Amino acid sequence: MVNAYDKLINMKYQSKLLLGLIQKKGPVTRNQIMDATGMKLTTLKRFMQPLLDEGFIIEADMGKSTGGRPPTLYDVNPEGFYVIGIDISRTYTETVITNLKMGIIDLHRFASPHDPEDTVNQISLYLEDSLHRLGIAKSFVLGAGIGTVGPLDREKGIILNPANFPSNSWINVPIRDMFKEKLSLPIVIDNGANTAVLAEHLFGTGKGIDNMSYFQCGVGIRTGAISSGGIVRAINEYEDAFGHMVIDINGELCHCGNRGCIETMCSIPSITKKFKKLLEQRNSSSINEPLDKIDYLYICNAAEQGDKLAKETIVNAATRFGIGLANYINLINPELVVLSGPLIEHSPLFYKTGVEAASKRRYMKNSRVIFSRGGYFKDKAIAVGAAALLVEEILASQDV
Ligand SMILES: [Zn+2]
Repeated sequence: MVNAYDKLINMKYQSKLLLGLIQKKGPVTRNQIMDATGMKLTTLKRFMQPLLDEGFIIEADMGKSTGGRPPTLYDVNPEGFYVIGIDISRTYTETVITNLKMGIIDLHRFASPHDPEDTVNQISLYLEDSLHRLGIAKSFVLGAGIGTVGPLDREKGIILNPANFPSNSWINVPIRDMFKEKLSLPIVIDNGANTAVLAEHLFGTGKGIDNMSYFQCGVGIRTGAISSGGIVRAINEYEDAFGHMVIDINGELCHCGNRGCIETMCSIPSITKKFKKLLEQRNSSSINEPLDKIDYLYICNAAEQGDKLAKETIVNAATRFGIGLANYINLINPELVVLSGPLIEHSPLFYKTGVEAASKRRYMKNSRVIFSRGGYFKDKAIAVGAAALLVEEILASQDV
């Protein structure tokens, strides 16, 4: 039996273009598709037919009538085909199984990734089980996308030498081929900040916005950007560069070798370290926990509950983050900035202070920037975006 990936990849470019459009704008009428593509009705029918025949699209409910018979609406088949998204981050791994509308059918989060082999085995076993449990045959799965920590060799599917990973066995890991072997599916890989910004741009808060940025604030600060509708790519897919913007030339030494990088003040480890140091020095907090019991989650909660020292630590970190963010916005000029990741998720105070600090220091005060806390997909953006990336790569492939 021909699998879903081969069926789709072998379709004409125009059919793939139509599927992409219907996936993002559906349900739509033929007239709306003709308006969007400039195709004539006969051409449209010719390239839509294979998508209907193979079940990639279906006739949905009827549209609103302007008199006479209401027009037929078309949408992607929400139950015909599936995609896998895998998020390998520093403190967890997460998998999603989605339909072609990027609706999540299954979601699972694993603890901190061990060594690569363990991680790939654990994830693959879970996914095989889930597909079986959901009654989804592998031949209806288009493939899997992986969003992970850079730097990467995207072409070869290799994780190169990520900083701050829980174990140093994550160096030069051929992650794409490892998953390919276990899952026997087409696999694509990108850095997680890129897949997250793609998810929000195509299906989330950034729908219709062609210039936007995504910040994943956690152990490091990872950024992804869409410019003129496309992912901004850098050599080696570094996504941590924002965290190494120098904002204090006399600041603390960073693991990158410079002093005063944003990451030395605004990441989970730096905030936790700073708080513990202040707690020891001042002894002015209401917190009586032993130091080894205090993690960033504890600090975020204490700050929300009004602890003075926790608040001061978060506000200081977020203000410095905001200064960096203002510099970034001045250069890139995005319409939408999504701030996400554990720091934002667990600390409304960090988000609020960071946005205020950035807004105050923006150069072009008249241009509009929308901020979003967590975007639409929240902590699922990297995984959903990885699934979306796989579909995008198939749809963008040229006729063979
Ligand atoms: Zn640095």
